[in-house]
Amino acid sequence: MKVADICQIIEEVAPLALCESYDNVGLLVGDPRMELRAVLLCIDVTEAVLDEALQKGCNMIVSHHPLIFRGVKSLTGKDAVQRCMIKAIKNDLAIYAAHTNIDAVLHGVSGRMAEKIGLLNTRILEPRSESLLKLVTFVPHSHADMLRQALFDAGAGNIGNYDCCSYNVEGYGSFRAGEQAQPFVGKKNEIHKEPELRIEVILPALRQAKIITALLHTHPYEEPAFDIYPLRNEWKQVGFGIVGDLKEPENEIDFLLRLKTVFRLKALRHSPLLAKPIQRVALCGGSGSFLLNRALDSKADIYISGDFKYHEFFNAENRIVIADVGHFESEQFTTEIFYEAIRKKIPTFAVRISDVITNPVNYL
Ligand SMILES: [Zn+2]
Repeated sequence: MKVADICQIIEEVAPLALCESYDNVGLLVGDPRMELRAVLLCIDVTEAVLDEALQKGCNMIVSHHPLIFRGVKSLTGKDAVQRCMIKAIKNDLAIYAAHTNIDAVLHGVSGRMAEKIGLLNTRILEPRSESLLKLVTFVPHSHADMLRQALFDAGAGNIGNYDCCSYNVEGYGSFRAGEQAQPFVGKKNEIHKEPELRIEVILPALRQAKIITALLHTHPYEEPAFDIYPLRNEWKQVGFGIVGDLKEPENEIDFLLRLKTVFRLKALRHSPLLAKPIQRVALCGGSGSFLLNRALDSKADIYISGDFKYHEFFNAENRIVIADVGHFESEQFTTEIFYEAIRKKIPTFAVRISDVITNPVNYL
């Protein structure tokens, strides 16, 4: 087991390409070829977590928040981040982060919060836009099934809860093979007309390379024709926040008290209550106040997130209840996602969740 193997497992759940442009995710410290003894999972990398990793014999840390977020131009140990980097390097500790890329997936940070609360029919609160493409290709009937399947296997044709989606129209293609060509059908230097299917599939931009490779590999023609169009559609499986419904409406006080239990809270900040039951719940792990309008649009009765400022509570305007459960508290279950992903692939590998509470916010 190498560092790169753990990176790959996490990236199957949370592809690096899904991170926000300002973010810094992936392997931050260490050699991907290093042999691993054990991995420690945490939300924040602190000096205490590094000590814990060393004490427990772990030589890789997987965290939610990236240790290095901004550019480092010198490495002198002048702050905690640099001290952690130096300590990690001196002790052959690899450090990896999955941040906004694991926020962005349906079963990521917010999805795990929704599971803990017991939400049903969950969907992304703010689906990502301009991340989808349309692929159109033209193939003789003999190879249509095989090509379609290859595109699906490579990740094309997923729409909501459906996969293997395509649109197919009959037509014919024309071409004249040149002297150097090796045509699959037709003769050199003669215009040929071949009955073909026009196949259209939707695909995430991040899978484009893999899908085009599958097309080129499967299409029988020497020069397969294909077009790629950018789409403005929202990608409903990827984006920030989650909205879902409770099985039964719950009294708002009872629901808030349940949140305190689920998220192990000493205190919970909330906007004025509305004296109506809670059934639809919107939420976002971390600092999610920017999604309040999305929560309102979704007709949620409550919006749960962290880091709401004083004035932002006014924006509830008796239309929704805002519940601030705290940044760390909202993301505390993210380590479970890492744990399950690794254990699912390698059931016997030594992977541990940190015992250090790194939350810098305390309540008296
Ligand atoms: Zn966070």
